[in-house]
Amino acid sequence: MDGNGFKKEDRSRAGGSRDGRERGGGGMGEERGGGRGFGRRKVCRYCADKSLKVDYKNAAELKYFITERGKIVPRRISGNCARHQREVATAIKRSRNLALLPYTVMQHHP
Ligand SMILES: [Zn+2]
Repeated sequence: MDGNGFKKEDRSRAGGSRDGRERGGGGMGEERGGGRGFGRRKVCRYCADKSLKVDYKNAAELKYFITERGKIVPRRISGNCARHQREVATAIKRSRNLALLPYTVMQHHP
């Protein structure tokens, strides 16, 4: 077989590397700031509301800062600042002494 003559110039794919991927208009905008700040406050509720005071007699208010089991909610969850968190903790302890709040909640088994 004489390999004369026909020479296949296999110069395909010269230059035109056209991949199918075209990065068109990316419709993926980051959704943020939905407005629903769920559980996350910028400042603690006592700082936000000046009229609101940490009151050990105000059990309804203190209930926000204890868990179902009667434990004090940590600051990063409650969103309190350090100062008010301490006041809240003190108030809760005081309130416990007055039996306004439970030390622990009994577990109910249905
Ligand atoms: Zn505060």
